[in-house]
Amino acid sequence: MSTTTVHGLSQRVVAVAESATMAITAQANRLKAAGRPVIGYGAGEPDFATPDFIVEAAVAAARDPRNHHYTPAAGLDELRTAIAAKTARDSGWDVDAGQVVVTNGGKHAVYASFQSILDPGDEVLLPAPYWVTYPEAARLAGGIPVEIATDEDAGFRVTVDQLEAARTERTTMLVFVSPSNPTGAVYPPDEVKAIGEWAAEHGVWVMTDEIYEHLVYEGASFTSMPAVAPEVAGRTVVVNGVAKTYAMTGWRVGWLIGNPEVAKAAAKLQSHTTSNVSNVAQRAALAAVSGPLDDVHRMREAFDRRRRTMHAMLSGIDGVVCLEPQGAFYAFPSLRGLLGRPLRGRTASTTLELASLLLDEIEIAIVPGEAFGAPGYARFSFAMADDDMVEGLERLADLVHAG
Ligand code: PMP
Repeated sequence: MSTTTVHGLSQRVVAVAESATMAITAQANRLKAAGRPVIGYGAGEPDFATPDFIVEAAVAAARDPRNHHYTPAAGLDELRTAIAAKTARDSGWDVDAGQVVVTNGGKHAVYASFQSILDPGDEVLLPAPYWVTYPEAARLAGGIPVEIATDEDAGFRVTVDQLEAARTERTTMLVFVSPSNPTGAVYPPDEVKAIGEWAAEHGVWVMTDEIYEHLVYEGASFTSMPAVAPEVAGRTVVVNGVAKTYAMTGWRVGWLIGNPEVAKAAAKLQSHTTSNVSNVAQRAALAAVSGPLDDVHRMREAFDRRRRTMHAMLSGIDGVVCLEPQGAFYAFPSLRGLLGRPLRGRTASTTLELASLLLDEIEIAIVPGEAFGAPGYARFSFAMADDDMVEGLERLADLVHAG
């Protein structure tokens, strides 16, 4: 309270948690600026450039005066139609263009979903480890995140029994993401269906984040909840975007898809906040979602190769337990075996401290599990050059094995 009075800021914003990784990031940036060879595993985005045909569509769009003016807040009609077609193609869920709202990235779709559905005091079931934006965006809408812990033994997948045990009269929504950031977990179809059916039975809304849908490896496949559990479709909001699939994080185009009332609510909100997403970026997204997936497959092959290498290398380090990621571009090993253990004469008692130690001693930057509601773990992105990735993991192995 006193903080809000002193600074004159709203309680709402003061209550937003600062990222647990800010100190580490600042430390990594300082070292990099000083010319140190820091290897960063923090990237939450593909290391590729956006495919040419998409960039060309944007160049043409920038030259077309039709794109120089306001367009409908919910998105260009052509894009909403193309997203509906793409959703039928990739998710197997038939929706009308009117159910789609184009947002400033998937992150903004998460925010708009919570704002459109939650009332103050509504509980939001949040399986952990979770992407850090979910609890903060839920709180900004007055929601109360209720964390449900999962671990590597459970494949970082929440069960219906856990959800049921956490459900109260205030439970309004479940956050579901598969493939997952930060764990790389992918739920099999029967589990997605069971969770969807449970939500439908209890009138719980589901926000399902499909942003990593195309990044699945080996035997894993992507399953869209409203397609396999149609009974929950009316209470589902799908969050998606072009960022991860087409290496377009900087273009800021995402979307949400929900029943017509939710879509109208989100569009109304958007009409008073951001208005339309940049038309040039929307035209680029239109080219992406209606174009071929060849580039996506090429990028996926590179991620898959790095995934195998990273998993093998991490698993070879004494004290590190790493579940093989099945999707996205992250490994999420348990580093508990490294805590309290001398590493170059120093010890770390938490993964937050360990991240700082690793940055100091071997100049690698990882994201400690504390950032994702999962102390004892860390996220290692493999969206990076193969050689750098290997070198940093060798530094880690050498450090641990030298003691
Ligand atoms: N969902 C998840 C699970 C993510 O990891 C991200 C990006 N880190 C997003 C949504 C948002 O992506 P963007 O806003 O760049 O579209």
